[in-house]
Amino acid sequence: MSNLEELAKKPLPDADELAGRFPAQPHDHKATESTYQEVMEKLAFGQSFSDYMAHARWTKDGGWQEKDLRPYGPLPVYPGTSVLHYGQEVFEGLKAYRRADGTIWLFRPAFNANRFNQSARRMALPEIPVEDFVGSCVDLVRADARWVPVKDGATLYLRPFMYASESFLGVHPAHEVTYLNIGSPSGSYFKNGFSPVSIYVSEDYHRAGPGGTGEAKTSGNYAASLQPQEIAAEKGYAQVCFLDGETNTYIDELGGMNVFVVYRDGKVATPQLNGCILEGGTRGAIIQVLADEGITVSEERIALHQLLDDIRAGKVAEFLACGTAAVVTPIGKLGGKDFELEVPTGPMTKHLHDVITDIQWGRREDSHGWCYRVS
Ligand SMILES: *Cc1c(COP(=O)(O)O)cnc(C)c1O
Repeated sequence: MSNLEELAKKPLPDADELAGRFPAQPHDHKATESTYQEVMEKLAFGQSFSDYMAHARWTKDGGWQEKDLRPYGPLPVYPGTSVLHYGQEVFEGLKAYRRADGTIWLFRPAFNANRFNQSARRMALPEIPVEDFVGSCVDLVRADARWVPVKDGATLYLRPFMYASESFLGVHPAHEVTYLNIGSPSGSYFKNGFSPVSIYVSEDYHRAGPGGTGEAKTSGNYAASLQPQEIAAEKGYAQVCFLDGETNTYIDELGGMNVFVVYRDGKVATPQLNGCILEGGTRGAIIQVLADEGITVSEERIALHQLLDDIRAGKVAEFLACGTAAVVTPIGKLGGKDFELEVPTGPMTKHLHDVITDIQWGRREDSHGWCYRVS
C-alpha cells in the first residue's frame, strides 16, 4: 500500500470538532435568488462559484494565520507576486455530495489533505495541518450549503489551493503563501455523461519526467499538458495520454486522470507509480474495490506497443480513465501518430463507476470509512 494510502487511513476528528477554524466574515453581496437559480439549473463544470471562499495566510516567521471565510471575489495581486513568475503552487480537487436524506458528505478528504502536503513538500511550500485542510472544507460547505446541488450526480466541487503570494522576483521558496479553498457547483465533467471518450497518445510531448513534478498536483503539469491537449483536440480526440518521459514507451496517465486496462482473461492492470504519475484517490479506491472482490490489480509498466498489440489481438476487454471530476469513464478509441484503434467497452467500467458512486452517495456500505459527514 502506498505511503499516501497509509496516511489517509488515519481517522479524522468529526466535522463538529473541526468546524469554526475558518469563521465567516460578513458578506453583503451573496448571489441573488435569480442568479442562484440560474446557476443551479445549468450546473456546468467549474464555471460558477459559491458565495464564500476559505482563506489562510502563511508567513515564514508567523506560520499559518488569518484563517477565515470571506466573500468569493477578486484577489489583490501585485505584478511581482512570485507565483505569477515561477509557478510555485499546488492544488486539490474533491467533491461535496448531498445525499437523498439531505446530509452532506466528502469522499476521502484525508487522502486529499495528505496529498496536498505531499505536493507542497515537492514544491517547497509549507504543509498545512490536515485538520485545517479538512476544516476549511467543513466551514466552506456548511456556510455555502445551498450551493451543494440536490440533482442526482451533481456536487459542489471543492478546489483547495495555495501559492507563493510574496511579491518578490528573486528565486527562492516563498516567505509568504496564501491558501484558498473555493467551491463550484458542478454537473458531470464530461458533457455526454457515461459514454466512451477518445484518447490521443502524445509521443512528442510529456507532462512529467524523472525527478520532475509529475507526482505533485501542481499547476505547471497542467500547463505542460495544454499544447498536447490542443493537438489532440485538433485531431478530434477528447483527451491526451502521456507516455513516460524517460523512454517514451510506457503509459503514464492522461492529463488529469489515471488509467486501468481490463483484459479478457480477467486481469486488471494500471501503470505503477513511478514518481511521474499523480497518485489518484479514485485509482486507490478502484484498487481497493477490486481487492474486495478478489481481484488483485497488477501495478506494472504498460508498454504502449504491447497495449496496441493486445487490443488488436482481442485480449483487451476494457480501457478506462478515472479521477474525482469524471469518476470512471470508458475509453472507446485510442489514437496516435500511426495508429487509430477502436477499444472495446464492457461491464467492468460501469461496475466500478456504480460501486464508487454508490459508496459516495450512501447507497452502498462504506466498508473502508471513505465517506466523511460534513453536515
Ligand atoms: C488529480 C489528478 C488525477 C486524479 O486524482 P483523483 O484523486 O482520483 O482525483 C490524476 N492525474 C492527474 C495528473 C491529476 O492531477
